[in-house]
Amino acid sequence: MTDLSMPFSRRGFLTRASYAGALYSAAKLFPFPAIAAELADDPRVSQTVIADKGFASVRKVGDGLYATISDPSKGTQTLCNGGFLVGKDSAFVLEGFISAPGAAFQWETLQGITQVPVKAAMDTHYHYDHSTGNAFYGANGTPLWAHADTAKRIVTKYGVLQGVSKSAALAREEKAVKEAKTELAKTHRQGYLDAMSNIFDAINATTLTLPNHPLSASKLPLKVDLGGLTAVIEHYPGHSGTDLIVRVPEQNVVYTGDLLFSGIFPVTFDDRATNSGWRQTLKTFASWDKDTLFVPGHGAICGQEGVALFRSLFDDIEEQAEKLHKAGVPVSEAVDRYVIPEKFKNISPFAWDFSIGPTVAKFYAEWGAK
Ligand SMILES: [Zn+2]
Repeated sequence: MTDLSMPFSRRGFLTRASYAGALYSAAKLFPFPAIAAELADDPRVSQTVIADKGFASVRKVGDGLYATISDPSKGTQTLCNGGFLVGKDSAFVLEGFISAPGAAFQWETLQGITQVPVKAAMDTHYHYDHSTGNAFYGANGTPLWAHADTAKRIVTKYGVLQGVSKSAALAREEKAVKEAKTELAKTHRQGYLDAMSNIFDAINATTLTLPNHPLSASKLPLKVDLGGLTAVIEHYPGHSGTDLIVRVPEQNVVYTGDLLFSGIFPVTFDDRATNSGWRQTLKTFASWDKDTLFVPGHGAICGQEGVALFRSLFDDIEEQAEKLHKAGVPVSEAVDRYVIPEKFKNISPFAWDFSIGPTVAKFYAEWGAK
């Protein structure tokens, strides 16, 4: 195998053929790769699944620590990963997911494990696939924590998609498909239109529910004492401008939200996403203990090799973009010209125009190029 993941496969969980094309097409509705059943052979990750609905499963990843890992090839009720932390006095729940039934699945799994009250739920950031299931927490009266800008961003980005016709909401994306100058460009614009269409549907299928406990970045890090288990909430730049992570330093476990995608190209479309900020954040992740266990926002649980692989994706896009830039290729063309190398053939782009395209464009912008 000439896979780049080989040097990082200390635990061997990036070497499996988990992102096969067949599964990818099954997950077409939301084009995230399927998650293989194989897991990190880390003693903290239980091989026993506590609950499995196909679309997501829950496993123990530490003492009082649980990860909810989504498999979009089997259903899109959750779409993103999540998890929960259970101390002696209270529990803390992560993510609103993409639908209330998704949030309910995780909640019910938690209820089957412990009787301690839930202190709060938290959205790691405002994106639809982490927040459109917030209605579940609204309905059961759970305090909902998030970065202070999250509520505002949900309203400005998604509120505007409610109460308008789909054709009006997607007119610009439709036009971009029609006006694409090459077949490749047309494919990429079509992928964006399909993804936006799915987002429109997700937004309009729910009651947008806003976090009611804003966490100001200036007040972070914040220690949350659950009774014999201390979680630390921290803010880092890169993916959405509203990204929070939850660390459990005593056990070297980190819930990263979308600041880490495992086996998926970085999703940088957000107007507050920055390549430089995100790479700095990843450098910080890489500086943590070599045995750190990461529960990513999407994809399989990983160790430091997952962070290293993700950083190498940024490096490769930068390298190719730089060549295009030096050759005088304008950004409007460069966004379609990144070539996924053989070593990354199992890495999935979540809609080109959400991931690779904007990453190229942001490198151009950072270089002050037109
Ligand atoms: Zn996101």
